[in-house]
Amino acid sequence: MLVEPPVKAEVAVIGGSGVYSLPGLANVREYKVYTPYGAPSDNIIVGELNGRTIAFLPRHGRGHRIPPHRVNYRANIWALKSIGVKWVIAVSAVGSLREDYRPGDFVVPDQFIDMTKGVRAFTFFEGGSVAHVSVADPFCECLRKKILEAAGRHSDIRVHGKGTYICIEGPRFSTRAESRVWRDVFKADIVGMTLVPEVNLACEAQLCYATIAMVTDYDVWAEKPVTAEEVVATMRRNTEKIQKLLPDIIGLLPSEPCREECSCCRSLETALM
Ligand SMILES: [Zn+2]
Repeated sequence: MLVEPPVKAEVAVIGGSGVYSLPGLANVREYKVYTPYGAPSDNIIVGELNGRTIAFLPRHGRGHRIPPHRVNYRANIWALKSIGVKWVIAVSAVGSLREDYRPGDFVVPDQFIDMTKGVRAFTFFEGGSVAHVSVADPFCECLRKKILEAAGRHSDIRVHGKGTYICIEGPRFSTRAESRVWRDVFKADIVGMTLVPEVNLACEAQLCYATIAMVTDYDVWAEKPVTAEEVVATMRRNTEKIQKLLPDIIGLLPSEPCREECSCCRSLETALM
């Protein structure tokens, strides 16, 4: 007998560095979700916002306990899927690889390059059934558009609608030589540590997923030394801006994923062997 989960949520926000809560949630409950892959990063916070039921999960756990390479991405995505989530808005902090993507700017990437080292569990399909999911266009175009539309209403938010996110293993930052390779050879625009495998697991789970990458600083190619205080101040301002922006995005989301415009929710139709 199938048992319905005790909670249902339509939209999930995965909070990155600096984003450990979602202000404005009403009727807040907290759920511990068990998954076949172990424990998610934290309990899932569920509440109402703009008439929708929202799930919030801090990717690194509250208090930032879990480094990027140790996040249980499969448990996180599985847990969100299990409570009925259709839309995932992922938030992350990144370094910039180009002059015009400035600290404090937001980027809604449309492509990624995976430079993780293969120690992360990056698929739900370990055998039994085999799936080759297309990630040619890895992000939900429908959700990306809603994010950009909502951001356009905020004069204090500078947002870039395109960008290639290069995901490195971490937890260390890039060397100068690596940073120049990401920028000049790979032509990537931003660098971070958490997008992969979160994005492709979301795709396997047939979720509509997009990322808002918040630029904290220029990566080391720029040879612009910044102090820790400057980075912390930028992160704090970014957190304030994202917390104003998220309710507007949620308010724009249709009740069902727009199947004509995105293939996220049909990703397995042609993938299973
Ligand atoms: Zn979609």
